[in-house]
Amino acid sequence: MPNARFQIGDTVMGRWPGSNLYYEVKVLSFDNKTRLYTVIYKDGTELELKESDITSLTMFKQGVPRSRSRSRSRSPGRPRRSRSRSPARTSRRSSTRTTEVRREKLKEALEVRLTPLSMTHENNTNSKHEKKEENNTATNTASTIIEEKTETESENQAGGRYNLRRRKDQGDGKTEQIELEQKTETLLQTKPPSAIKATDLEFGGRVGVFFLMFLLPLAVLALLILCGQKDASLQSFPLELPALQSLWDWQVFGIVLLWLLFQAVLSLLPVGKLVDGMPLKNGKTLKYRINGFYALLLTAVAVGVALYQEVDFSYIHAHFLRFYTSALLIVTLLSIYLFVRSRWASKDELAPGGNSGYIIYDFFMGRELNPRIKNFDIKFFCEMRPGLIGWVLINFAMLQAEMKHQNLESPSPAMLLVNIFQLLWVVDGIWHEEKLLTMMDIVYDGFGFMLTFGDLAFVPFTFTCQAYYLVSHPNELSVFWIITLITMNGVGYYIFRKANSQKFAFRKNPSDPAVSHLKTIPTATGKSLIVSGLWGWVRHPNYLGDIIMGLAWSLPCGFNHLIPYFYLIYLITLLVHRNTRDERQCRKKYGSAWEEYCKAVPYRIFPGIY
Ligand code: NDP
Repeated sequence: MPNARFQIGDTVMGRWPGSNLYYEVKVLSFDNKTRLYTVIYKDGTELELKESDITSLTMFKQGVPRSRSRSRSRSPGRPRRSRSRSPARTSRRSSTRTTEVRREKLKEALEVRLTPLSMTHENNTNSKHEKKEENNTATNTASTIIEEKTETESENQAGGRYNLRRRKDQGDGKTEQIELEQKTETLLQTKPPSAIKATDLEFGGRVGVFFLMFLLPLAVLALLILCGQKDASLQSFPLELPALQSLWDWQVFGIVLLWLLFQAVLSLLPVGKLVDGMPLKNGKTLKYRINGFYALLLTAVAVGVALYQEVDFSYIHAHFLRFYTSALLIVTLLSIYLFVRSRWASKDELAPGGNSGYIIYDFFMGRELNPRIKNFDIKFFCEMRPGLIGWVLINFAMLQAEMKHQNLESPSPAMLLVNIFQLLWVVDGIWHEEKLLTMMDIVYDGFGFMLTFGDLAFVPFTFTCQAYYLVSHPNELSVFWIITLITMNGVGYYIFRKANSQKFAFRKNPSDPAVSHLKTIPTATGKSLIVSGLWGWVRHPNYLGDIIMGLAWSLPCGFNHLIPYFYLIYLITLLVHRNTRDERQCRKKYGSAWEEYCKAVPYRIFPGIY
């Protein structure tokens, strides 16, 4: 922070927005561009303050805080014109405040424990208050301790003085889940890449990712071998290893390449809207073409034409391991390409997590944030298109293979349910493609082996394991079971979609009639937390919905084996981990308001259990 007056880690006095009260805060980072300091208060609240609203401890103890109002009172000769600019300023205040009164106030402020979020739950959980709070600033939450409203506040309300991170709540159309991650990103980015400490490394650091890079592909291979075996139980370990020649085929490799090319061409079609991504650290935004739904439709048309031409999609089932190894080779080559090209990326274009300076670690995590070839965004493309649409296509291939292998006139109800349920999930994901732009994968993670493997190998080859399993392990379903599973998937989908849409709508515009009835808890950041409806039931209802759907996808395979439940086990593990990480970040972001939310809504994902 060469141009900053205060350094990261400094303990200083920061003015509470909209008041003349100063609290001890710690400097977390400094943005050279906006000239704002991110500081953290003792209760965990983080805000961005201007330099003029921060003063050193020594200066403060000497009674010389460098706030504008303070310096004015010490400077009687200052022209009055500037004071009258504030419409909020009262004549009473301007005429009667003396230096002594101000000094008293500041002294008082120091003695008041900082409790900006200390209002009771009952007082806060009504939507009227919420709307008021949303429309003003977070300063209202501290109204019990802030007596003096100054010129600062009106400027604040005008939106200029403090950055309280309300941008998204005010309806710019972006969800905020990524906000803290961006902040974390800023924090990490203030350090030179090589300064990321070994203790900051994820997945067990260099050693951990080294093993993961081998273990993950092998684990998926083992799953596929097990799924394809007649006796797919775990007791059939050690696996009957396939012959080496059944693991590779150049023709299959060519088909996978063609598939990628086909999807890439579809993604470049000038149909669908162009939207801005989240702001990057250089202040710019990238444009993204949202045309996934068209790509899905055109792929369906292409599959229809191929069927008409009597193309046998069960070929995919017969060569499934070869398809997987081909995808794995492409993942490896693509990761190498991404790593090499990142050498020429500017510092601005690097992801914070993938620049430790350790080659193996950075190769795994991904160095570049948004690798692009002209307008073609490689990460955005891989995240949604070849893997997700490929998942649906593979499921369909398994459906054809089942009919062929089991001499069926039509697919089994179990296979149909798995296909339809998962198709619904993929269509939903692609329909809401734009929301991906605010997710951690796009905003925070670099594009390296981890994501390329996840997108191009893990998703299409493990999420299809139920359909793959059913080809050689038929499972009869009674009408009762069919109805139960449809209901279960419907309930899961309803919870998943409603929770996500509600949060999205609320963050976009809290006054939206669709969400304005919800009870909320205000937070010091200016954003609020929904505390009624689905978000008042558990703290992550969207995860619960996702897991219920995952169960409905596995149950059609019956109870003979554990293998078809792989996806469900993976999903629960992933979402519990994601929940832990998200809660840690929310606690940091929202301080005592988050604690209050946790008290009001004690369960994280599973009501009454966890
Ligand atoms: P969420 O969409 O749940 O976002 C979490 C964020 O929501 C928090 O950081 C917080 O951010 C905000 N939030 C939390 N509680 C509240 C509240 N009470 N009121 C208002 N805002 C709140 O998390 P993800 O991005 O992890 O998940 C998105 C979807 O993707 C989920 O449905 C999930 O199931 C799905 N998913 C599926 C995966 C799969 O493999 N099937 C993998 C990963 C995700 P802020 O306050 O800043 O807005």
